[in-house]
Amino acid sequence: MSPRRIAVVGASAAGLAAAEALRRFGWTGTLTLVGDEPHPPYDRPPLSKQLLQGAWQPDKLHLRAADQLDALGLDLRLGTRATGLDTATRTLTLDSGERLACDGVIVATGVAARTLPEAAGLDGVHTLRTLEDALALKERLSGTGHRLVVIGNGVLGCEAAAVARELGHEVALVGREALPMARTVGTQIGELLAAEHHERGVRLHTAAVDGFEADGDGPARRVTAVRTADGTRLPADTVLVAIGSEPAVGWLHGDPALDTTDGLRCDAYCAAAPGVYAAGDVARWQHPVHGRDLRVEHRMNATEQGMAAARNLLAELAESLEGDEALAPAAGRERRPFTPVPYFWSDQYGLKIQAYGVLGGADRSEATVVDPDSRKAVALYGRDGRATGVLAIGLPPRQVRGLRALIATPVPWEEAREGLRNALA
Ligand SMILES: Cc1cc2nc3c(=O)[nH]c(=O)nc-3n(C[C@H](O)[C@H](O)[C@H](O)COP(=O)(O)OP(=O)(O)OC[C@H]3O[C@@H](n4cnc5c(N)ncnc54)[C@H](O)[C@@H]3O)c2cc1C
Repeated sequence: MSPRRIAVVGASAAGLAAAEALRRFGWTGTLTLVGDEPHPPYDRPPLSKQLLQGAWQPDKLHLRAADQLDALGLDLRLGTRATGLDTATRTLTLDSGERLACDGVIVATGVAARTLPEAAGLDGVHTLRTLEDALALKERLSGTGHRLVVIGNGVLGCEAAAVARELGHEVALVGREALPMARTVGTQIGELLAAEHHERGVRLHTAAVDGFEADGDGPARRVTAVRTADGTRLPADTVLVAIGSEPAVGWLHGDPALDTTDGLRCDAYCAAAPGVYAAGDVARWQHPVHGRDLRVEHRMNATEQGMAAARNLLAELAESLEGDEALAPAAGRERRPFTPVPYFWSDQYGLKIQAYGVLGGADRSEATVVDPDSRKAVALYGRDGRATGVLAIGLPPRQVRGLRALIATPVPWEEAREGLRNALA
């Protein structure tokens, strides 16, 4: 009999959390962790913050020390890409051509940065998803007085714009949304963020990007400006394209059993097919409490869902592997739906923005600006008469943590509003 194997594909936050949980919950068989990046698992949030600022060196981003990884006894395949999965036989194919027979698979391949076709081959145009991306942008912005145009005024674009201003560069932030992060945080908080960026000297433009201007030929073509559909020309020596991401599911397209529309679709237990689970940015799962599919691109969700997927996979395998030594008796032999209260944060200048619950898709939002000078504010988000999310800027940590309970499950709007008033009193 071939040795028992579980493979985790994607060696970042979600994949690492899954691998650690598999060991903790009793998997003693082979544990293969496949990652197409050459690095051991590292953290992404600091890429647009401490790393870009120059406050941290890359080695500070490692999620685990070498001895902690060693202790997991992994069959670690870094710099290796998974190219296919046959769910019927649970066979994983790698870019080397190797085929791995697995008892279970956890897909944690995250998302990739979207870009603009016109950016191909143009020197000075960047995206920001990987460590290499961040180091290249940092290198590009070395010295002072660069002219940076950030395309996309979502969370990532706003964070990079803030850091670049703090480094002393000229920054223009262009987005289709009228206000920074408005699609996530709504109009009132968007206005507050716009005021902060404006006061810090970022030029804000609402427009679609039409194309780039460049000088030079061939590989030496260097960006010189960004053109927008309203006819504006924004001079630039550096451009960051921060227009969102695409779930990394291309490698799964060969298997008709999988639904890869907007991420890998899973049930409430994070299962995409028998013995196949997904976690992190790539996973779209049915959130039982919110009653709809969610795909959450937040750092904390990656860890929580990695653990949940591992636990549920082992619970499923426990039936078929009863008595097998690969699966040591461990706690929790029952699958549980994954029902997190999503959490995200963003740092821009001195502002700490934190949110619990579901903000996207709200049909109603209401913000209270507690102190306009320090930009202290809270906001409630909801749909269908229920509050589903809450956001805080500049509140003390204890008060922020207290907000989580308000929307842990969707509650009637008025009830949450009352709770918010009490929390601020
Ligand atoms: C610059 C930046 C700043 C961020 N800041 C914040 C923040 O402030 N707060 C917050 O909550 N979240 C933030 N996030 C989001 C957070 O980092 C993600 O939610 C988290 O990294 C998701 O982890 P993951 O493991 O699901 O996916 P990823 O981190 O994307 O990891 C997936 C891994 O799988 C690899 N992979 C893909 N396809 C394959 C394949 N076929 N074979 C093998 N490997 C493959 C990828 O290369 C990657 O290494 C930020 C993200 C970025 C990029």
